[in-house]
Amino acid sequence: MGSDVVMTVMQPDYPFETLAIGDTREVAPGIHWIRMALPFQLNHVNLWLLEDDGGWTVVDTGYNTEDTRAHWKRAIERIVGRQSIRRTIVTHFHPDHLGLAGWFAEEYGTQLWITYAEYLQAHLGTVDSVTHDFNRWAAFFVENGLSEDRAAAYRANKSHLGDIMTPVPARLRRLHDRETFTINGREWQVITGGGHSPEHAALYCPALRVVISGDQVLPRITTNVSLWYIEPEGDPLRAYLRSFDKFYPLPDDVLVLPSHDKPFYGLRNRLDALIAHHDQRCEAAEKACADAKTAVDIIPVLFNRMLDDHQLGFAMGESLAHLNYLVGDGRLERVRDRSNIIRYQRIA
Ligand SMILES: [Zn+2]
Repeated sequence: MGSDVVMTVMQPDYPFETLAIGDTREVAPGIHWIRMALPFQLNHVNLWLLEDDGGWTVVDTGYNTEDTRAHWKRAIERIVGRQSIRRTIVTHFHPDHLGLAGWFAEEYGTQLWITYAEYLQAHLGTVDSVTHDFNRWAAFFVENGLSEDRAAAYRANKSHLGDIMTPVPARLRRLHDRETFTINGREWQVITGGGHSPEHAALYCPALRVVISGDQVLPRITTNVSLWYIEPEGDPLRAYLRSFDKFYPLPDDVLVLPSHDKPFYGLRNRLDALIAHHDQRCEAAEKACADAKTAVDIIPVLFNRMLDDHQLGFAMGESLAHLNYLVGDGRLERVRDRSNIIRYQRIA
């Protein structure tokens, strides 16, 4: 991540107009784009329905709401008709992607295809388990400078994953990095990456020049990359940026199908811009840590807007991800004071 490069941020080239919620469009031969609603500020997610000879494939299933299930039923009636759906491929465990996998299995008899870490995290996240113990998350945020009041508000705002997703199927067909399989007679390759979730899977079809990028590469907003309390010395930003090594070799005229915003061309420009974005933020964070700072102190350096309690958790995670990246690079050190508060200090 060099800093002496003047970046011109290119607008991605969007070949399609946006879709209304529940509408569909064929964006490549046999690949149907479906846009569904999300009950957040990020108000939509893109899902994909792929034609296949032995039964269709769904890539990402959507958030578990009655509306989304109704939109799916209509779209499937219209596009799949009397043919069957045989599998759901899920990029990662987040509820806007995996939320309806259980419903698909129940309703259509689909098999879940997912990486093993995402499968395990989905099951851990939907029971009372260590990874989703929000008391411990809140305590971790307090250690990193958050006030008790805001930590309590953050905790009160968290919903249990098990309440918002249909039951995660017990059985999986495991996806492996770099493995290939066919959909509709064409080869697809799995590209895994960390940083946003433990083992996110993107899918690339060389013959169609299409990559379903999930949340790993997004055209307009940046992917959330958060440190988790279970791994306080983790370096998710490095894992995230490292995954780009697998995307750069893709042909530059590849059509990227992201989970948010719209399909786009210009993958390499986007990767360059994302690297520059994180580079700038790391520099700003490093500068701010000339005097020791907590992760909370660094939030306004990284985000120039007000954050509600839902966004606060993402912002804390993101701030810590940048700070730990700088620790990994030997640019900052992590210091715990006598009242048990963690601060980051620039190494002169
Ligand atoms: Zn996600």
